[in-house]
Amino acid sequence: MKIEEKIACNAIKNDKESHIKLKQDVCKECRERFCIYACPGHLYSVSEETGEMVVEYAGCLECGTCMIACIYGSVNWEYPRGEYGVQYRYG
Ligand code: SF4
Repeated sequence: MKIEEKIACNAIKNDKESHIKLKQDVCKECRERFCIYACPGHLYSVSEETGEMVVEYAGCLECGTCMIACIYGSVNWEYPRGEYGVQYRYG
């Protein structure tokens, strides 16, 4: 089984609000955009409409990689509230 297939088996219960907040003023100045390459869920992208960095928190695997990958400290990451978030099916 490929890793993408294992990830697709996870169950995620999403809260109404994102547990990941980005400082758009910081993202706007960033040229490296490590978050886009580092996130195993491929959840980061630049909005074609606004040009802002966006994160689709609904698919978050709660690994915390993006918080470490952003060398400018833009990512304010917390675990989802109790009962929300990912439930791993393959460890
Ligand atoms: Fe992606 Fe992991 Fe950050 Fe979630 S915590 S957005 S899966 S890098």
